[in-house]
Amino acid sequence: MERIEYRNVIDKTDWKRGPWNDEPDKIQWQDAETGLACLIVRGPVGALCGYVGVPAGHPFHGLDYGSCPQSCGGDYCDHRPESSLDAHGGITFASGCSDLSRDRWEKWRSRKPELERDAKKYPSGDAAQSLKEWTGCFDNYEAWAERGHARFICHTPGPGEPDNTWWFGFDCAHAGDICPSMSRLGLRSMSGDYGEVYRDIDYVTAECQKLAKQLAARR
Ligand SMILES: [Zn+2]
Repeated sequence: MERIEYRNVIDKTDWKRGPWNDEPDKIQWQDAETGLACLIVRGPVGALCGYVGVPAGHPFHGLDYGSCPQSCGGDYCDHRPESSLDAHGGITFASGCSDLSRDRWEKWRSRKPELERDAKKYPSGDAAQSLKEWTGCFDNYEAWAERGHARFICHTPGPGEPDNTWWFGFDCAHAGDICPSMSRLGLRSMSGDYGEVYRDIDYVTAECQKLAKQLAARR
C-alpha cells in the first residue's frame, strides 16, 4: 500500500492556530515492521484518530472491539480487543472501511433537508458546518467520493491487495487532549488553556506502530 497524505482538507480558519495547521488531515501507510495497514484521520473535534487494519483470517477480523473472539461466555473477558489491545485512551473503534458507494451517497444526500433545518436553528452548529464543508457534494457523487477518501476511515489498497481490511482505532480526544476545533466555539477547555496536550502526527504514528505490533502478535 502506497503512503498517501491528504493535506488542507479541513477548513481550520476559525480554529486557534497550532501544529494542526501544518499537518495532513489524513495519512495512509503500511507499517514497516508488521506490514499492517495504518491510518491517521482527523476526527470531528479536530483531534487525530489512529487506526490499524487486520486482513481477513486474523482472529480479530470482523470482530467488534467489545466482543470475545472465542465466544468464551465470560462477561468482560480479557480476550476482547478492547481489553487485550492498548493504545492512547483505549480502543474505541472497530469496523470495515467506510462505504463510498453510490447507494451510501444517495442515503447521505437525502439528509440535506434535515441538515438545512438544523443549520437554520444553530448557524454555527455541526449541521451548518457539514453543509459548508460538503457543498458541491450533494449533487455530485464523484465530488463526494473524492472528499470521502480524504475524510473517512478507508484506504486505497495497492494493486492486487485485498480491500476488506478490518480497522481497530483509538482517538486522541480524551480528557487532557487538545481538541483543536473546540476553540472555534470559544471553549477554553480542550483548547490547551488548562494544560491539555495536542497529540500530533508523530505521537499518533508511534501509537499506531505499537498497536500494529500487538495485532501482529495475535496472527
Ligand atoms: Zn472471552
